[in-house]
Amino acid sequence: MEKPVRTRFAPSPTGFLHVGGVRTYYFAWLLARKHKGQFLLRIEDTDRERLVPDAVQAIFRDMEWLDITIDEGPSTEEITKAGYGWEGAKGPGGPYGPYIQSLRKDRYKEIAEELVLKGHAYRCNCTAEELDKERQEQMARKEPPGYSGRCRERNVPASEKHVIRLKVPRDKTIVMEDAIRGPIQWSDVALRDSVLLKSDGFPTYHLAVVVDDYDMKISHVLRGEEWLSTAPLHVLTYEALGWEKPIFAHLPSVLGSDGKKLSKRHGSADIKSFRDAGFLPEALLNYLLLVGWAPGDGEEQEIFTREEMIQRFSLDGVSPGAGIFSDQKLRWMNGMYIRHLPLAEYGKRLRHFIETAGFTVDDARYDAILPSAQTRMEVLTDGPGLLGFLFQEPLVRDLESLKKVKGTDVPTVKKILLAAQDTLNTLPSFDIPSIEGAMKELPEKLGLKTGPVLESIRIAVTGKKGTPPLADSMVALGKETSLRRIGETEEALN
Ligand code: GLU
Repeated sequence: MEKPVRTRFAPSPTGFLHVGGVRTYYFAWLLARKHKGQFLLRIEDTDRERLVPDAVQAIFRDMEWLDITIDEGPSTEEITKAGYGWEGAKGPGGPYGPYIQSLRKDRYKEIAEELVLKGHAYRCNCTAEELDKERQEQMARKEPPGYSGRCRERNVPASEKHVIRLKVPRDKTIVMEDAIRGPIQWSDVALRDSVLLKSDGFPTYHLAVVVDDYDMKISHVLRGEEWLSTAPLHVLTYEALGWEKPIFAHLPSVLGSDGKKLSKRHGSADIKSFRDAGFLPEALLNYLLLVGWAPGDGEEQEIFTREEMIQRFSLDGVSPGAGIFSDQKLRWMNGMYIRHLPLAEYGKRLRHFIETAGFTVDDARYDAILPSAQTRMEVLTDGPGLLGFLFQEPLVRDLESLKKVKGTDVPTVKKILLAAQDTLNTLPSFDIPSIEGAMKELPEKLGLKTGPVLESIRIAVTGKKGTPPLADSMVALGKETSLRRIGETEEALN
């Protein structure tokens, strides 16, 4: 029987989730879902110096926002016990826990001792000064720095303060089959005897990742390519323990449009900033899918439903070359997703951004404008700028632009506004077609071009240039407010 597919997301709680990492783990999630397997969350908190306790809650929150469901992961008790609890914290748990590395120290120690016993690892009590001195000497000799292996034959007793190091064979060829890169061979392992267990009892990544992936029955290890150079250590550890290796897949980096590794320099790189910037999680994941994966030669489909992504995804379609993250393309895709949201859902999601910008939403006006707003934004944060005029009283107007509308002067603008007031006032019905009809006739009546006439009225009613269509905006505001605003503007020009 084929082994069940089990993949994992193993973030270190050192800050916010980064899009590059999320892309990698989204692929792992897709793989698990495709094969009806399980997707796990494991918190890798062994780097105590960089630990940010709140980051655990942020990880749960971001995963929920992205709707990346977890089958197994830290239980509620584990979260509390490790000191990461928050109000309402809830974790799935599972049969292979604990899923938080700081709660698994005994297990790492047990395995490290087993490796010592089998002769694949040894205790080392070299002091920081000794190691430093060694490094200086190596540098002076122009050798690559790294531990010399001085303690290999020293039989350091367990009673002394020590670390446990892996005995990296000096003449062994190590091979690994990478699901994305094919077979990889390291013949002259440049890696020195790496530390597996630190003197404070915490494991290093190298030991913890092997033990946990094995204990948690992970079938496919998908992770960033930054781990490829140390993968031989993991292969050696699996072999030393006589454990079957998982399938490794090292995913290419995500780069910014300038070819540099995606970071803060490129604007927002963490998931929370994308959320705050008004991106939809479904658009972000669809876009991330395409950064590194392609459906097949000559296929141009770019928008995929979740179900399609699950069906179509496979590691064969992942390219080993770095993926380029284009903010522009993501914005375009987000706009597409916004346009395809059911109207009520769109209204629900957008509302938060309008309110966060400080506006009190008037439901009738809001509902009336939604259809025309929906086709006019790329990100939900476009909302306040586009629709704020509906909820702003008194309206803040860009009078400077109004005075500079091309082809007019102040007296002409005043004439336009008075004529608009008259025409609109006498409309038998204040609806979009009637207003559009009246606005079409107005320029001719005044002997002016359409552009300046409409622009003047738009600024008078909405305060500025870039807003939804004029007639839609007036209907949403209602006749009384629209006419009042036109009148106020005309007076303000005196
Ligand atoms: N804790 C590691 C990281 O956040 C995980 C790497 C892995 O997936 O094995 O980079």
